[in-house]
Amino acid sequence: FSTAKLRDILSKDIQITPSKTLKSIPPNKDLVFGQSFADHMLEIDWNNKSGWEAPRIKEYGNLSIAPSATVFHYGLECFEGMKAYKDRNGTIRMFRPDMNMNRFLKSCQRLTLPEFNKEELLECIKKLLLVDQRWIPSERGYSLYLRPTAIATQESLGVGPSSKSKIFVINCPVGPYYKTGFAAVSLSATSHYVRAWPGGTGDAKVGGNYAPGIRPQMEVGQKGYAQNLWLFGENDNLTEVGTMNLFVFWKNAQGEVELVTPPLDGTILPGVTRDSILSLARLWGEFKVSERNVTMPEVTQAIDEGRLLEMFGAGTAAIVSPIKNIFYKGRDWPIPLDPKDSSSQAGALTKRFADTIMSIQYGEVEHEWSVVV
Ligand code: PMP
Repeated sequence: FSTAKLRDILSKDIQITPSKTLKSIPPNKDLVFGQSFADHMLEIDWNNKSGWEAPRIKEYGNLSIAPSATVFHYGLECFEGMKAYKDRNGTIRMFRPDMNMNRFLKSCQRLTLPEFNKEELLECIKKLLLVDQRWIPSERGYSLYLRPTAIATQESLGVGPSSKSKIFVINCPVGPYYKTGFAAVSLSATSHYVRAWPGGTGDAKVGGNYAPGIRPQMEVGQKGYAQNLWLFGENDNLTEVGTMNLFVFWKNAQGEVELVTPPLDGTILPGVTRDSILSLARLWGEFKVSERNVTMPEVTQAIDEGRLLEMFGAGTAAIVSPIKNIFYKGRDWPIPLDPKDSSSQAGALTKRFADTIMSIQYGEVEHEWSVVV
């Protein structure tokens, strides 16, 4: 849905109305993911007559949207998840925000939500970060989670491109996913529910991908598993874990040490963390790195033959999430964690990715992925 002749987002036009009452920020130790929100939000409205209106930074608060708005009926909504960090010097940094802007635009395009200039939107987000900078925790492992969201606000029940829409960005301070070191998770391999399918929207970050995952998540939770391991197809291909990308580190059937993640075939969300892990692994050049399909029978065979080394999920929230067990075909399959240390909750490679990415995020090593705000 091209906005060619309409006005684009212009960060220089931003109107900032500081909140009159500033909230108290919860102490780091009390932070629960997605529960407390900073003082301000960014809001940018669009209509198909004139395009994007001036961006506004204003007090975080309720939106007023007609009950007929298409977002409520047909799920015309997509979003992003990204973080801002404070380094040791108090400098604000973001991690590869261009990738989030690219993905956000692609998700909008998939839903016919209006296009926007990615650099200009990112400039507006940076301004929001400056206004709300006291909300960015300074301790390593803590960050400000940003939730850019696009919704269709047209007031009519037609199933079609919306004549009005809104982008808003809210942000919340978050703590480390693992407060006391890693905690490896048990998964249940699921094929009777499917997260995504060829020609579907699995590669876009649309709200419609997430609501149907809640019941499967609840069902495996009741059986004592942390997440679904989403399988797909008659060969039980591994796809993603919960809302994370998936990595297998093993000695493959040919005897090569290999890091594998499923390919971006349209059913996989192109994760920023996934891409970062692949880039680092290729740079290190210490083992084979593959984007290809892996099946559950190949994984169980590798477990039986002692070839499976580590498995982990990857995403912005946790960076990596080590996997210790998979329920599949009526039994639990144990996944190795750290053969050198039986008390460890994560393998050496899993930890190395977490450490390397974190040191980039917190500006401890200079890297082009860390963008100073
Ligand atoms: N897959 C899904 C389904 C997700 O929701 C996410 C989180 N955005 C990811 C993978 C990981 O993506 P990222 O590394 O960009 O957070």
